[in-house]
Amino acid sequence: MIYTKLGKTGLEVSRLSFGVMRLPEKDDKDGKRIIDRESSIPLLRKGAELGINFYDTHPFYCMHQSEIVLGEALKGIKEKVHIQTKCPLWKELEPGETWSNRLEQSLRNLQRDYIDLYIAHSVSWETFEKKGRDFLRMAAKAREEGLIGHTGFSSHDKPENVMKLLDVDEFECMTIQYNLRDLQYARCIEKAAKKGMGVIIMGPVGGGILEKLPKGKEHIKPEKVGGVPEMALRYVFRNPGVSCALSGMSSMEQLEENIRTISSPDPLTEKDYLELEKSFFSLKELADLYCTRCGYCQPCPQNINIPGIFHAVNLWRIYGSEEQARFFYGMFTHPDKEGKKRDPSVCIECGECEKKCPQHIPIIEQLKEAQELFGKPE
Ligand code: SF4
Ligand code: SF4
Repeated sequence: MIYTKLGKTGLEVSRLSFGVMRLPEKDDKDGKRIIDRESSIPLLRKGAELGINFYDTHPFYCMHQSEIVLGEALKGIKEKVHIQTKCPLWKELEPGETWSNRLEQSLRNLQRDYIDLYIAHSVSWETFEKKGRDFLRMAAKAREEGLIGHTGFSSHDKPENVMKLLDVDEFECMTIQYNLRDLQYARCIEKAAKKGMGVIIMGPVGGGILEKLPKGKEHIKPEKVGGVPEMALRYVFRNPGVSCALSGMSSMEQLEENIRTISSPDPLTEKDYLELEKSFFSLKELADLYCTRCGYCQPCPQNINIPGIFHAVNLWRIYGSEEQARFFYGMFTHPDKEGKKRDPSVCIECGECEKKCPQHIPIIEQLKEAQELFGKPE
């Protein structure tokens, strides 16, 4: 494993870090989706055994189970690990609730008395202007009390607004999306690194979109790299401003493949990267529906599995896997145990999902397109 300094925080973190947002799931005895703890806990512990010492979580990830399962998994392990979790600043405080209450809840969930990095989550410049100073005051107090070590922010706002967040000069780290498919924050990464901030990359494999290449475009992957995820990960690490990348791993195979990538020298030359960029950026297939399956749009009041449906759409449109796409679409739109429909036709266009989507996807329109593509379920 390669370790790197996380800006000026003094933390040394593994370049490959664990994004605890895609843990394996299963159905419970009532048919409700839950986190599969029997697979998740060994996976998280194995990551630490293999040298990963930085875990990123959120109170809402994995159906509100991410912090809890992570806390359980890391209990009693001998390896020293650092944790980043987040305060959802975009979510209004409930009556009587304070920002400190949210931190206390995360500490309880994680079964810890200290969080290494507590960050303002998905902050837009507008949200920062309304609530950011209160968050920073709370974070400074929590630092004095020894409850947190450092603070930072994550954002999906326009790059020019992320630049303004960087000028606040009170954040020590930035967590930002960056991958072969989405380079819009490259300037922000450069600026943050120049300021001595830690730069943590989310979505290095585009939330799964870069797990393979569109049908007929497989030749874009240089022969020197084993697989498309390896190519995507190496591309991110090549940026000198990047401190570490969060990979949302959900299986031992993914974990082992990523560990192999990070542990071996990069076989690609500057020329290879230039070629890769040239052919990759011309791929219009990857530009249409950029759903990272982050799940922020969930839950939908009509119980529509939006990320699942978009995954099925992309499987068909980008990768030409119609059969697999139909299988997943059928699975994600199948009526629930009470027979209540969950396909796009039950969308009431309330718009709740669109307000929460960091990629600003016109979800309602895209769901209609999905329905046209797959037809109405019987
Ligand atoms: S707009 Fe449709 S898909 Fe989105 S939250 Fe409302 S009902 Fe669900
Ligand atoms: S539609 Fe948007 S919010 Fe929902 S999973 Fe996809 S990227 Fe995330």
